[in-house]
Amino acid sequence: MKYYSLNNKDNKVSFQEAVIQGLAPDKGLYFPETITQIPQAFFDEIEQLSNEEIAFETIKQFVGNEIPEPELKQILKETLSFDFPLVKVEENVFSLELFHGPTMAFKDVGARFMSRCLAYFNRDKDQKNTVLVATSGDTGGAVASGFLGVKGVEVIILYPSGKVSDIQERQLTTLGQNITALEVDGVFDDCQDMVKKAFLDDDLKYKNLTSANSINIARWLPQMFYFFFAYKELKKYNKQLIVSCPSGNFGNICAGIMAKKLGLPLTHFVASTNANDTVPRFLENGIYNSKPSIATISNAMDVGNPSNFVRIQEMYNNDLKAFEKDFSSYTFSDEETKFAMKNIHVNTGYIAEPHGAVGYLGLKKELLNYPNAVGFFLETAHPIKFLDVVEPVLNVKLEIPKQIESVLNKEKVSVKIKSYEDLRNFLQKN
Ligand SMILES: *Cc1c(COP(=O)(O)O)cnc(C)c1O
Repeated sequence: MKYYSLNNKDNKVSFQEAVIQGLAPDKGLYFPETITQIPQAFFDEIEQLSNEEIAFETIKQFVGNEIPEPELKQILKETLSFDFPLVKVEENVFSLELFHGPTMAFKDVGARFMSRCLAYFNRDKDQKNTVLVATSGDTGGAVASGFLGVKGVEVIILYPSGKVSDIQERQLTTLGQNITALEVDGVFDDCQDMVKKAFLDDDLKYKNLTSANSINIARWLPQMFYFFFAYKELKKYNKQLIVSCPSGNFGNICAGIMAKKLGLPLTHFVASTNANDTVPRFLENGIYNSKPSIATISNAMDVGNPSNFVRIQEMYNNDLKAFEKDFSSYTFSDEETKFAMKNIHVNTGYIAEPHGAVGYLGLKKELLNYPNAVGFFLETAHPIKFLDVVEPVLNVKLEIPKQIESVLNKEKVSVKIKSYEDLRNFLQKN
């Protein structure tokens, strides 16, 4: 399978090159050259298939013959070594819980798949890849855990000092081995700027730097798996299906649309956002006008210019009419989000963290247009990861899950840096 750059369709690379490069040299995101529907028989018998079998059938065309079948199956087995329960919250409303992995955020799926693909590509080379990633919290932990101990890959994570939660910081800084945390004296945007500079720095070319956020196809594409898992559970209702994704960089929802392209019968997608409403505004007035991000209580979605939106436009050939038929996007304030968290908890006993609650709100809004449909929203993180919001809003005390407990008493190790020069020196010395 070849991938082309969305900045220039003539720039084509293999799956392996796209994974190793992350972003194309012309700064475009990679996109698969062909998308082939999966035969109907797969959907007819999906109830009989395991998660690994579903994942294999859906990803194989994107990998092609670049990873042999037994190795790809092993990668999928390791990627999907935890559950994806679909929990009934209300009549016709389900929560697809994506937080049962090692760092309790959905990003575990993409991070684990990508790390193992890179390890396969490095299997008999001395060459090393360096994964460089800036994080405002969740991404770093999932990448650190997903890449821990993976052969031929060094991981360097930049995070803003004092701006991530205690749990998030421990998930980044306590693993050791091939994971190094750089604690930046600055804000997230400073970390992001340093990473971008490093990618463009000719003196660092020899380090084979790559990124590990959802611009990388090996992080983005496996996110389509769980839409198929949800379908497997919901098929028996024999109703139209609506999904709402709490969206930041729009990687998840973009993967859901890819699942639909493969034949998954989802009727409608809702991109639910917090106050960072670039896409809801675009759907209202047809003008794409990004703006600097605004801080909210659902901070993993504080994105002013969602990077995967260009991929969604590509899937609809930039046809706004066709796009609007399948897709809505709604924005919700922090007040509305807290109110929803309280209502869900009081009425049903379910604890939704802020990102999931935004997803719930968008789903409820869309179900007014589809009164006979069944809907699900993605619950993208465990409530414990946002306990500073969840505990006071719901007036509850959360139990610490074992995945989190295991990092709480480990010692933090980080390297403090102040400037791009510090980062460059660090990369050249290590
Ligand atoms: C990253 C993240 C999101 C946003 O996902 P996108 O695929 O970037 O839209 C939502 N919720 C949580 C908890 C996240 O960590």
